[in-house]
Amino acid sequence: MSLRPTWAEISISRLRRNYARLRSAAPDVALMAVVKANAYGHNAALCAPALAGEGASWLGVTCLDEGIALRRALPQPRVLLMSGVWQGEAESAIEHRLTPVVWETPHLAWLEEAAAQQNVTDFAVHIEIDSGMSRQGLRPEQVDAFLAALAQCKRLRVEGVMTHFHSPEVLDSSATATQMENFSRALQVLADAGVTPSIIHAGNSATALTPAMTQAVSALAKKHTATAMVRPGLSLYGYSPRFAGEGAAQVKDLLEPVLSWKTRVISLRDIEPGETAGYNATFRAARRSRLALLPVGYADGLNRLLSGCNSGGGFVLVRGQRAPIAGRVSMDLTIVDVTGIDGVALGDEVAIIGEQGGERITAYELADAAGTIPYEVLCAIGSRVPRRIAEEDDGDA
Ligand SMILES: *Cc1c(COP(=O)(O)O)cnc(C)c1O
Repeated sequence: MSLRPTWAEISISRLRRNYARLRSAAPDVALMAVVKANAYGHNAALCAPALAGEGASWLGVTCLDEGIALRRALPQPRVLLMSGVWQGEAESAIEHRLTPVVWETPHLAWLEEAAAQQNVTDFAVHIEIDSGMSRQGLRPEQVDAFLAALAQCKRLRVEGVMTHFHSPEVLDSSATATQMENFSRALQVLADAGVTPSIIHAGNSATALTPAMTQAVSALAKKHTATAMVRPGLSLYGYSPRFAGEGAAQVKDLLEPVLSWKTRVISLRDIEPGETAGYNATFRAARRSRLALLPVGYADGLNRLLSGCNSGGGFVLVRGQRAPIAGRVSMDLTIVDVTGIDGVALGDEVAIIGEQGGERITAYELADAAGTIPYEVLCAIGSRVPRRIAEEDDGDA
């Protein structure tokens, strides 16, 4: 166990409540719990069993390695490899009962051959349709050739057909409706060719939190006598998408951030007016200033753009008050200005993300200050930062 006093606390009970809230927000669809990128930095080994325990029968990961790690811990739930397989990965995917997304013709040959080697006769795959994001999936003009290749694959069974939306949080945009139309058209082409998936899935957190969208996905699945499913990720971890457009204000944020990022004051000093702090002396004391040192830096994922030398800059919570980052975030260390915060002492707990007293800092706040999105803030928290179950949950995981 690392004794360095920088750690993240994962609240399993909040994760469970978020999942339950998403379930009741989207009663007309099944949910795939997305746990890619180590559960958005929250530790998939802690989070996935809790989600499975709440009833998540599908988990979404990016790649084979993530899928294998999950499968070792959880024999039950289905696991979708959302970025497909690459050459050489098909055998392990089959061996570990992982379900790949397919859209490039070579995916089919790799999987068919590996299935033959392992005497597997009925291996489930999900086809992705590119309905307008131009990232991955079959484009309409590729469908015929893909289906011809698929017809040669006697060991593969199309269990699911999916698509992904690029702007589902923009509620008054016509883009999602257009993507739904393209998806619907592709599903009809597949149906006419005899490809009849039992699951049809689309979208992310924003989709799951928008009743009109879950209803649309549900109606489309019903038309094809399939189960409808939506794939939330970020919202499980307590962050709603920032909805925009008509109706956005009505979306209530019922979610609770699952991760707190904490550290401790490991050194204190007072500097005189005119003295500087940190690399390149970008912080210059205007008055006698008390500086606290934190054992956390950009190597831990604390974005260097949070340095207090540019306009903006980040804050942490010390003794329930906001302390601005003073000067440059270094690789392993960060200085904060605690002038005027009474009684700061060595060992004081500091929140980088989390709640203290009545104050709170979220991944959205860090993202805004660093010009990025909460997804990146959370995923960037480094492997040097141990993830621990929050005390409120002890014995409850
Ligand atoms: C990441 C991802 C999701 C989840 O997205 P959130 O915005 O985190 O809810 C859903 N589907 C696919 C294909 C993804 O890559």
